[in-house]
Amino acid sequence: AHPDEVYTERTTQSRAHMERARKVMPGGMTANIKHFAPYPITINRASGSKFYDVDGNEYIDYLMGYGALILGHAHPHVREAIVRQVEEDGTWLFGTPHDREVTMATRIQKHFPSMEQIRYANSGTEANLLAVRLAMAHTNKYKIAKFEGHYHGAIDSLLLSIHPSKSDAGEQEDPQAVPDSGGMSPEVANETIILPFNDIKSCARILEQHKDELAAVIIEPMEGGIIAPKQRFLQQLRKVTNKLGILLIFDEVKTAFRSAMDGVQGVYDVTPDLTTIGKVVGGGFPFGVVGGKATIMEQSSPLNGTDIFAGEDSEASQKALFHSGTYNGHPLILAAGIATLDVLEQEYDALVARTDRFREELTHLFRKHDIPMKTVGSGAMFSVLLTERQEINHYRDLQKCDHDSRKKLDKALFEAGVYTKPGNRYSLSVVHDDEALTKTLEAYDRVIPEVIR
Ligand code: PLP
Repeated sequence: AHPDEVYTERTTQSRAHMERARKVMPGGMTANIKHFAPYPITINRASGSKFYDVDGNEYIDYLMGYGALILGHAHPHVREAIVRQVEEDGTWLFGTPHDREVTMATRIQKHFPSMEQIRYANSGTEANLLAVRLAMAHTNKYKIAKFEGHYHGAIDSLLLSIHPSKSDAGEQEDPQAVPDSGGMSPEVANETIILPFNDIKSCARILEQHKDELAAVIIEPMEGGIIAPKQRFLQQLRKVTNKLGILLIFDEVKTAFRSAMDGVQGVYDVTPDLTTIGKVVGGGFPFGVVGGKATIMEQSSPLNGTDIFAGEDSEASQKALFHSGTYNGHPLILAAGIATLDVLEQEYDALVARTDRFREELTHLFRKHDIPMKTVGSGAMFSVLLTERQEINHYRDLQKCDHDSRKKLDKALFEAGVYTKPGNRYSLSVVHDDEALTKTLEAYDRVIPEVIR
């Protein structure tokens, strides 16, 4: 049978769901990601490292809530913390200061000492919005530089050149701002400067040109959580930005507590001015955190003498930096996040050792089948790239890998019960045990000769 017929046969309930969903949601979804053609599967149950679709098919889940669920689904320690929070506090929302806000901030600072002061938001996107506003207020400059291929959430000024088509993107050393979404003012492309990752010479040249307008450089210090910075790249970027009076923002939403407990900044020993984190630290709930130098963070204090509700013409209202949100510092989310860090601090090293071993075993397997393959990534997250290239340093190196074969491989693995993020990023959790990993390796062993020739 044609592979699509096999797919359709075992996912009839998912198809029925999608027909209903399309009537009420554009594309039947609330996000832009469509996992497998001709329609994605619908999941309705999970347990540990696995989830199950509405037809009852089982999958080993390497999506793990886009990396957020580092303890797997419904870890008992997190579940208990959530129940305890509701029982002890008698509610799930105060809207006032509360103790867990401080507990979490202290815990984060243990791993991220650069986050001298901390504020909470409801997603990685929101955290980056605040970081950008803080940088602009602090420098009185209003442009931001970002890197080609880096994602910082759905923020107009940063939703540029994440996946530029080759014809629009310009030279690698001089990347152009290319909008990644409709519905944004054409002006945003003029307001944002694009930089090439891992190329400090070009970065220094471009930043020098725009230093008088640039509030900050924002970077995923490990690109996409998978492409490592060259040995001295981040330190050199720190030096250049310091020299030019431009702030440096590390977006560690994806990498904090996943690529390394202390983030990429800990591994490479670089101190950014501001850091944003999210995903893992929210325990699987909507969460984002901004932190950094006290002198910068202090601008968001309601106690700094300015009054955000002063009249529009007052000098105070010009200076004040607005940051608020109904759910900021949500008690339930903080309880889940703190419980997640409790477990992770004990189990992270073992998780990384298991992930490294799994990567090695995958590498052996591809070698056995004589298919050129390389894994990239760090800690508990990595990608499998079909390529002969020795070095992957940039988004454009990724583009040159064999994506057609990989898509076929992903689909075949999916049919064998292995679910990865489209684009093939593996997020492991502490409950991906030997049984799950062995089953995955066996699936690879079966499907590689079937789909790659
Ligand atoms: N920054 C990075 C590096 C991310 O990977 C993501 C999400 O994938 C975000 C920001 C946006 O976070 P959120 O989806 O929580 O808004």
